[in-house]
Amino acid sequence: MSITPLMPVYPRCGVRPVRGEHCHLIDEDGTRYLDFASGIAVNLLGHSHEGLISAIQQQAATLMHVSNLYGSPQGEKLAQTLVDKTFADTVFFTNSGAEAVECAIKTARAYHQHQGDTTRFELITFANAFHGRTMATISASNQEKMHHGFSPLLAGFKYAEFDNLESAKELMGPHTAGFLVEPIQGEGGIRPASDEFMKGLRQLADENDLMLVLDEVQCGVARTGTLYAYEQYGIEPDILATAKGIGGGFPLGACLATEKAARGMVIGTHGSTYGGNPLAMAAGTAVLETVANDEFLSSVRDRGERLRSRLEQFIGNYPELFELVRGRGLMLGLKMKVESRPFYAHLRDNHQLLTVAAGDNTLRVLPPLVVGDAEIDEFFEKLSAGAASYAPPDAT
Ligand SMILES: *Cc1c(COP(=O)(O)O)cnc(C)c1O
Repeated sequence: MSITPLMPVYPRCGVRPVRGEHCHLIDEDGTRYLDFASGIAVNLLGHSHEGLISAIQQQAATLMHVSNLYGSPQGEKLAQTLVDKTFADTVFFTNSGAEAVECAIKTARAYHQHQGDTTRFELITFANAFHGRTMATISASNQEKMHHGFSPLLAGFKYAEFDNLESAKELMGPHTAGFLVEPIQGEGGIRPASDEFMKGLRQLADENDLMLVLDEVQCGVARTGTLYAYEQYGIEPDILATAKGIGGGFPLGACLATEKAARGMVIGTHGSTYGGNPLAMAAGTAVLETVANDEFLSSVRDRGERLRSRLEQFIGNYPELFELVRGRGLMLGLKMKVESRPFYAHLRDNHQLLTVAAGDNTLRVLPPLVVGDAEIDEFFEKLSAGAASYAPPDAT
């Protein structure tokens, strides 16, 4: 047998972490890596954060799981916090980002269909989006590499150009139920939508009674310096999917909606065995208690600005490698003039610096939100050494 026990769907690298300490990961063989990937925007509080550990330990020792057939004081508490701090009136908890987007898609369809309008089922989504790996969420993306081998896709998605309002308008028709968009594309290359685009989608949704659905699985939960990125666009969605950072490393996601948007999500329409279990609620509560306040959010903005201005200075030293810096808060991307993937591997293997490659030849810089000056200094030491010693594969 040549297949590996772990189904070989990931191109796993040689880094094999067994322990985490704040902004570092320690490998099986003792090598220390600076972690500016954060499990892809997940470990907001870094690794081995005491408050998060003790919340999980206490809850694990008290009650881990019960059915959603019972009342949930733990779920009510976290949902109320999200309701208080966002546009939303109601929350469905999931175990992952894809499930949160899946619930958002169902909520948007049900908004129309619950009232008997079965003609409206299409969501307009945007080129190079990433919404997850379930059948519905791959169908929501135009990225063919994720479709290959999995046809037929789920019907009901049309792909417009990202950040292009006219392109979205052209696809609107009698079947349109709403728009599904990442305000800042993550996998697509840390590409923030413009204000005009986001405001334009809001206006189109308002004028045509459509749902504006945001996928903030990557850009949400304080990553960009506000609790959710939509706040920076001066708009509110009808439905929002959140996950990744919200559990700080514990699997947790949520679909947030206004009362109006959730009118189709009535008893018996949706469910999840694990979704909202007390252990996940304890993790989510500990994370939000730490990050959902002005002091923490402004510290993210400060750190983001410092990191960004230093990155902008830095890329000036290597004009042949880097084109520009983009993103918001601590969700930053370095768009490269050469392929970003081999450079990312070079930083990882030769300089023990972990980042994440993304589309559009972008290197994602996603440190834990608790990153300090010492780690930012260490990041620039490693990045500088990495850039100085780098020979792009094409050039050699
Ligand atoms: C990661 C991601 C998802 C999928 O989340 P999973 O937890 O992997 O299912 C969906 N949308 C966006 C924007 C993401 O970055």
